[in-house]
Amino acid sequence: MSENQAQPPLEDIVSLCKRRGFVFRTSEIYGGFANSYDYGPLGAELLHNIRNLWWQEFVTLRPDMVGIDSQILQHPETWVASGHVGSFHDPLVEDTVTHKRYRADHVIEAWVQKAKEENPASFQDFSVEDLSIEEMEAFLSENQVTSPDGNPLTAPKTFNLLMETELGVISGEKYKVYLRGETAQGIFTNFRQILDTTRVTLPFGIGQIGKSFRNEITTGQFVFRTIEFEQAEIEYFFNPETTHWQELFQSWQESMWNFVTKTLGVREENLQWRQHSDKERSFYSKDTWDLDYRFPFGWKELWGIAYRTDYDLKAQQTHSGQNLEYRDPHTGETFLPHVIEPAVGINRLLLMVLTDAYWVDQENNRTVLRLSPRAAPYKAAVFPLLKNKPELVSKAQEIFAGLSRQFPVVWDDRGNIGKRYLYQDEIGTPFCITVDFETLENGTVTLRHRDTTEQERLHADEVADWIKSLLQ
Ligand code: ATP
Repeated sequence: MSENQAQPPLEDIVSLCKRRGFVFRTSEIYGGFANSYDYGPLGAELLHNIRNLWWQEFVTLRPDMVGIDSQILQHPETWVASGHVGSFHDPLVEDTVTHKRYRADHVIEAWVQKAKEENPASFQDFSVEDLSIEEMEAFLSENQVTSPDGNPLTAPKTFNLLMETELGVISGEKYKVYLRGETAQGIFTNFRQILDTTRVTLPFGIGQIGKSFRNEITTGQFVFRTIEFEQAEIEYFFNPETTHWQELFQSWQESMWNFVTKTLGVREENLQWRQHSDKERSFYSKDTWDLDYRFPFGWKELWGIAYRTDYDLKAQQTHSGQNLEYRDPHTGETFLPHVIEPAVGINRLLLMVLTDAYWVDQENNRTVLRLSPRAAPYKAAVFPLLKNKPELVSKAQEIFAGLSRQFPVVWDDRGNIGKRYLYQDEIGTPFCITVDFETLENGTVTLRHRDTTEQERLHADEVADWIKSLLQ
């Protein structure tokens, strides 16, 4: 059995996203733009929900967290200090005939995957993450690995992922700046101001959601890997003398797991933890784990968590010459706190949520997005049974107006009820509310459930509270 058998093919998800307005190719009218996607009306709502749920769970509901919003363009020294200018690299190989470029580790991974399918006993403990660039070069040449088009490849060389641009109005006097490669550094550079302006005491965390940019060359993974993407990162600061980092690390792992399974409703069997080996881990990190999701193209990193010690604060302190130390209000001791960093991409969360929710209901001949009500773009759809009966339409409008003040709902009066249900199933709307002739008699509406297609009657006045109870 293939490891991805339970998951829908990526093409089906891409097709649904396009058909129903979740995700479009960027610059479609010009033939598209590599590794870039725009979000349509439903994708924008879904992103918004995921973002808000993350912020609510990790910032609003926690007394030990605050949030910030720093700039995409920052002082270029930020990225020298963080090590991104010097070593934010991926290994690149080029097809010597077509000149298409690939990530060497991805080419090797695909080659190993194929070898394993032919001989399951081969490459048992192989991990491409453990290979240095020299080892990748040796692997490619020893195994005569070719490009996906079957052509010879160049030796791998490193290329920097940071995207550059220029600032300044006078030509010749412009200076180089970088589009941020992660949101985290904005947290470290604002650390002093946050200490000075808020009432936080260790241990505490700072969270941020925002756009990051990377010069990604790998294509074909839809919104999993894009040039421009949204990150949700937390830096959780603590005193390593008084806090057991292992316990803290584990509690963050539990919080990440709960967010994905309980808040976003993703199935546990599609998630697994993977610890980075000593070779793969950054030199400053004491422990790093990835929470992997079973994407349609295999198990891949969804969310990373790393114990980064005081590496980043120390680097920003050294480069800026500013004191970034924390002063303990009880003991008066001053020191640089250590940090645990859970970092996730909002767009990867979206792809995971869509993949996990996608279901072809053979029995009822329909495609359904079984999104959790909290993630679903619309919580309910409101229909008048017939478009040409003013008394039905005005009652339905009244219900729509009442509900839409409380949560996102959608109106539909096109076509017959069966078609409206199928459309709502495909976009993941958990409930459809139909105003029919019985509504005019006794005030009840038909409430139809997306997943079971079951219908029941509920008084129109009770619908809002009933849906709200499911959103808790
Ligand atoms: P990968 O190994 O997949 O390139 P990474 O280890 O470089 O990811 P981090 O730098 O740890 O990723 O970034 C934190 C999170 O940001 C990742 O877990 C992922 O969810 C998200 N992310 C990183 N790069 C991208 C990208 N190019 N497109 C979309 N999301 C991304």
